[in-house]
Amino acid sequence: MSINALIVDSTKYNRDMLEEMLTAIGVNCVVCETGKEALARDGRRQYDFIIVSRHLEDVGAELFLVRFREHHYIDDALTIMLTSEPVKDIYYEANKAGYKLVFNKKDFPAIEHFLLGAINNRTIDLKARILYVDDTKSAAERTSTLLRGYQATVKQVSDVTSAIEAFQQQEFDLIITDYYLDGDETGDDLISYVRDFEDFDKARIPILVLSMESNQSKRTSFLRNGANDYIIKPYDNDELIARASNLIAHKKLFEQFRKQQQELLKLAMSDQLTGLYNRRSLFEIGPKYISDAVRHEYPLSLLVIDIDHFKAVNDNYGHAKGDVVLKKTGEVMQASLRSGDFVARFGGEEFVILLTHCGQADAMVMAEMLRKRTAESRPDDVVVTVSIGVAELAPDDDLDSLFGKADLAVYKAKDLGRNRVEQYTSDESK
Ligand code: GH3
Ligand code: MG
Ligand code: MG
Repeated sequence: MSINALIVDSTKYNRDMLEEMLTAIGVNCVVCETGKEALARDGRRQYDFIIVSRHLEDVGAELFLVRFREHHYIDDALTIMLTSEPVKDIYYEANKAGYKLVFNKKDFPAIEHFLLGAINNRTIDLKARILYVDDTKSAAERTSTLLRGYQATVKQVSDVTSAIEAFQQQEFDLIITDYYLDGDETGDDLISYVRDFEDFDKARIPILVLSMESNQSKRTSFLRNGANDYIIKPYDNDELIARASNLIAHKKLFEQFRKQQQELLKLAMSDQLTGLYNRRSLFEIGPKYISDAVRHEYPLSLLVIDIDHFKAVNDNYGHAKGDVVLKKTGEVMQASLRSGDFVARFGGEEFVILLTHCGQADAMVMAEMLRKRTAESRPDDVVVTVSIGVAELAPDDDLDSLFGKADLAVYKAKDLGRNRVEQYTSDESK
């Protein structure tokens, strides 16, 4: 969005100063020396700021604005008169002529400060969902309208109970709460409830407290209790918007960061070729599968699956086709499992599966089904078979020992001719 300013001043020094200042903060300037020159400008051009010196060489600023309005649409513009006289002497007349603000020409820092603030407000939007808690009806209406003016979606309630209900049921990006509220409860009660909320992400929502409290230590206590910021009532509109916008921007940035982190984690945990979990995640996630099975006393089995003569696939068809075969074999396994099960590509052409609620006998059935499906799958017209070793979790097993057992069983399957399922039996370890 570009911001445009019209500057009309007969003094070159003033024109240059204003133009330089506005350009530096990203405003496009149209600079004119006389009223006539400005009036001749394209009437379709819309301005955010119209800055006019009181004494132009050809026309007074008041008359200029009347004329300018005849051929230009200026309702959205912030009209500013610059004068060398004391502002208070001419403010009334200027206002009547349609200038919203009057500045003394010498006071450039004040003009700059004001324009910067105005620009920030014009570019700020609060496209966010705000839960707003206030029991003073008139103030509540005014604030809601203000927030909505900045494109916020506002849910307005007047007590802590309704606020909690809304918070539980809906998603918000910001809570703005009055400190003293209807009933016995205060903003603090709402803050405590939110911060202790079971859903960790929801509990982190930014909270802005509105308060008439002038006592510094009390105000500090808002922050200590979990508010992110506070604002003293009666508040300045721009300040409220700026603080609300800061909190929302922070939240959005944090969410973006979290999302990226989760994506990175997912990337680190998955195998690029097959999209299955990788070896590392077996050791990260596997122990939890085992401890859950032990705690809740249900059976769990582990399968080690190794593709038969895979080296020959590469040798005969090339490595690229080998990759396709690996990928499709992974898909066959993934498609055969229940949602609670876990499958990882453990190494080159080796896969590991954890089957929950599945004892030895069931695991054998499952393994046999996988073996058969793989043999029938013929990815890219290549005949692929697998050897599978099966072991059930015993009371003294950890992930390593359980894996060791299934691995022994897979060796046995290879020895006995491949394309078969074998189970671990305790005499094998001797
Ligand atoms: P066995 O039946 O005894 O398991 O024989 P095998 O050929 O499958 O076993 P071996 O361990 O000798 O060879 C595995 C082959 O898998 C060797 C390696 O080149 C290939 N391999 C490992 N990772 C990849 C991969 O990511 N892509 C492809 N195309 N081949 C791979
Ligand atoms: Mg192997
Ligand atoms: Mg192999």
